[in-house]
Amino acid sequence: MRRKIIAGNWKMNKTTSETVTLINQLKPLVATEEADVVFCVPTISLTTAVEAAKGSNIQIGAENMHFEENGAYTGEIAPGMLDDIGVRYVIIGHSERREYFAESDVTVNKKVLKAFEHGITPIVCCGESLTQREQGVTIDFIRQQIKIAFLNVTPDQAKAAVIAYEPIWAIGTGKVATSAQAQEVCKAIRECIAEIYDTDTAAAIRIQYGGSVTADSAAELFAQPDIDGGLVGGASLKPDFGKIVNYK
Ligand code: PEP
Repeated sequence: MRRKIIAGNWKMNKTTSETVTLINQLKPLVATEEADVVFCVPTISLTTAVEAAKGSNIQIGAENMHFEENGAYTGEIAPGMLDDIGVRYVIIGHSERREYFAESDVTVNKKVLKAFEHGITPIVCCGESLTQREQGVTIDFIRQQIKIAFLNVTPDQAKAAVIAYEPIWAIGTGKVATSAQAQEVCKAIRECIAEIYDTDTAAAIRIQYGGSVTADSAAELFAQPDIDGGLVGGASLKPDFGKIVNYK
């Protein structure tokens, strides 16, 4: 039985002092033994967030990292820097990073490999645009994203990975995918993992749905057989996140 994982993506929101306030506000609301709870916060607040979350069930994740160990990459954050301060998750290849910061499937793959080298769990994002959905190429497109993201990733690493299926048309738009649409794609992702690796790996990997998840939609989405939780943007900044974590 896969353990659910519910992660918040704070994006470019909250100052460091606001981060402490929000973590303290959410701590009692997200306290659960039934799911992993991750807050992915802006880089500048990671150290403070790790401190603020100590003693709670909240684990802290980054929203991005570079794929090199160190070097002349002004403004970037190295995986070892995350590891050093106790960051255990990192979102890789969010559609906003692909769209605004030229991330490609190839850089996603390099980052996934590097995260595993440092024992950091990647939350690997994939998802189609509205045009791709209307053209009927959603599954083909996502299979390609997954196949490239997992190149040279070992079966044991893949078992520990998290994939976030996030249809771009549902992110920040208030248009949540139906549970049937989300399940169809998450099932196809699991089948793709089974083709790349084997059925054990496919049964172990956790696949989240992301895209306008709210306290109202979480229960039905997370009840789908191939959906193991969610990656939540807007609603992760509000007390509603507690209801999403305790969706049952
Ligand atoms: C996201 O940014 O990963 C996301 C799913 O955002 P939202 O929940 O706001 O659609």
